[in-house]
Parts: sequence; structure tokens; C-alpha cells
Amino acid sequence: MTRKTLLSHKPVIIAGPCSVSSRDQILRIAREMKRIGVHALRAQLWKPRTKPDSFQGVGEKGIPWIKEIKSTIGIPAAMEVTSPQQVDLVAEIADILWVGARNMQNYELLKRISKENHPVVLKRGLIATVDEWIAAGKYIGIDRVVFCERGIRTGADAMRFTLDLNAALSLKLDHHLPVVIDPSHTAGRRDAVPSLAKAAIACGADGLIIETHYNPEEELVDKDQTMTIEAFEDVVSRIKEIYTITHRLS
Ligand code: PEP
Ligand code: MN
Repeated sequence: MTRKTLLSHKPVIIAGPCSVSSRDQILRIAREMKRIGVHALRAQLWKPRTKPDSFQGVGEKGIPWIKEIKSTIGIPAAMEVTSPQQVDLVAEIADILWVGARNMQNYELLKRISKENHPVVLKRGLIATVDEWIAAGKYIGIDRVVFCERGIRTGADAMRFTLDLNAALSLKLDHHLPVVIDPSHTAGRRDAVPSLAKAAIACGADGLIIETHYNPEEELVDKDQTMTIEAFEDVVSRIKEIYTITHRLS
């Protein structure tokens, strides 16, 4: 997959669980995502966690599950890499590589990713400026990057992070760069995700990254912000309408 193919979907939607926890879990969600028409599955085997005793992801054990999904279900996989050493293994099966917020300034990781050809989701660091974010993208190769605004840390404490739509808009207006928005991490709570997703698309974002699971309570990471698949499906149809209206008006 190239960045161009990914962005040919208007809006582009990447979704799935926060983390892969078992073969059954990820296969079941992958089937649902394929049915709904999601463009790439969140398939995260390694999770950078704040606390060392939190679930760290299934790691390498999940590689065969993602291979199976790709051959039987045929949905592209968007996979986070958290260290340069993982890139060989992941690049072989991933359609999209992914750098998490905590690794936006892991320059050795960015340099290693620059040697691949995949499109790359580059999440914004927790307190990164727009300039720093774009500079990180240049390490990878700016033509391969899809920037992801996932909320930043500010004095505003109403929700988990503050969605910086200004930054997303600046990326579009001032730099002509593709940007998707992750309302799940911004909100930290599932009831706020639909409104933030709609706001993001109304503001001109190219797409969304959303966490969803058939039973959010079973999710090992970020369950409070994980939507049910039914609620997610509803958001998808609404944001498609908003995308059409937004682009007709602009
Ligand atoms: C995630 O996408 O699950 C995640 C941990 O996001 P971020 O890197 O933006 O914190
Ligand atoms: Mn998450």
C-alpha cells in the first residue's frame, strides 16, 4: 500500500482494538472491520505503557495471527513499531507502519523506518509543537507520512488530552500535509468519541483512527474509550455524511 492509495479513501478510517490480546479477539474484530469497510485494522502487538506492570502487548506471538487475517480476511494492517529491532519483522506483514506518540522523537526508530516503503502513521508527541512533529516526519520521509493528531497535554483537564484542531488545520492550510485524528485517545471516554470524530471531519481532517471492540469491557488497554462495534458503525456512517457536506461547502 502507498500513502496515495490509503488517502484515496475519503475519509480514511483506521480502527480496531487498542491492543491485540488473542487470536480469536483480533480475527473477530478484523472480520467486523472488513464488513464495515474500514480501510486498515489497528493491529498493535507492542504497547508502550506508562506503567511497567501494565499489559505490554502480545509481541511476536501475534505475528501469525496478523498473517492469517491478511490472507483470509484481506484487510490491511496498521502496526505500531516501538523499537528499530522490530521493524524487519513488522515491515514484512504490515501495510502501514505506525509510530506512537511516545516515540515521535525516537530518532533511531524514525531513521530505521525511513529505509522501508510503507506509509507511516506518525502520532503527535504529547507536548510536541507542530514544527517538531513535521521535523519527525522528515526523518521518515515526508511523502510517506500521515500525521495523526491524538490530543496534547495542556492546562485544560476536562478530558484525557486536548484535541488540537488548530494544529490539524495548520498542517492542512500551512503545510498541505495529510492529517488524521484520533478522537479515542483525546477523549479517554467512549461517549465523547462520536462528537470529536464529527468535529474532526468537519474541520477538514483526512480521516480518523478509532478504538473499537465487540466487548469493550474485555479490552486490556484503554477500555473506557473503546467503542462498541455498533456505536462505531453508526459513527462511520455519520462522518461520511459530514465529510461530503464539508467538502461540498469548502
Ligand atoms: C494507541 O494508539 O493505542 C496509543 C497508545 O496512542 P498514543 O501513542 O497516541 O498514545
Ligand atoms: Mn489505546
